[in-house]
Amino acid sequence: MGSSDRAAALEEIHAQVRRCQLCALGRARARAVPGDGPVDSRIMFIGEGPGREEDEQGRPFVGAAGRLLTTLLRTIGLDRRDVFITNIVKCRPPGNRDPLPEEIEACRDYLVGQIALITPAVICTLGRFAAQSLINPQFAISRQHGKPTRISGILHYPLYHPAAALHQASLIDALEADMRELGDLLRRELPGGPARAQHA
Ligand code: SF4
Ligand code: URA
Repeated sequence: MGSSDRAAALEEIHAQVRRCQLCALGRARARAVPGDGPVDSRIMFIGEGPGREEDEQGRPFVGAAGRLLTTLLRTIGLDRRDVFITNIVKCRPPGNRDPLPEEIEACRDYLVGQIALITPAVICTLGRFAAQSLINPQFAISRQHGKPTRISGILHYPLYHPAAALHQASLIDALEADMRELGDLLRRELPGGPARAQHA
């Protein structure tokens, strides 16, 4: 599939997300938050679920955690517009509670579809829920953050969630150190930068 066909297919998934009522989060949301970024990005960042500001704007990581993420990306030479950013659940859990297993399961096909169209080289998970969903159901973030694993050819890189680092000062150093490691890893894996090489 060419880039414009993949962009159209991605937009179709996002349109389905915006009218989705597959789980109870659909009734509670103001706006669904499908995700943002170029279909040709080689790097995806996957968080937990929209918060209040994301729910209001329909865009991922636009609140305080998003500002920290944007700053951290800049420290490793990435502009957030060059990476694809989404969440494992596309609608806000009321009061920012944890997403339930059945909500994660109901929403999973949208994420699987996004990954299939984008075919990233690197997936960075943010927080425990994304790591448990995408890397290993038993993933223990305090022991396993910053340790990359390759799954089906895609390098998975687990990071602490920026919101956790905002609430727990002890995590910010670990998140910053993991980001620097990620910068090194990306220079090795993607020497051409975050965009897909364009073929004629
Ligand atoms: Fe649909 Fe996902 Fe929203 Fe649930 S969280 S209503 S499955 S888009
Ligand atoms: N936290 C998340 O996990 N996702 C967002 O989009 C915003 C905050």
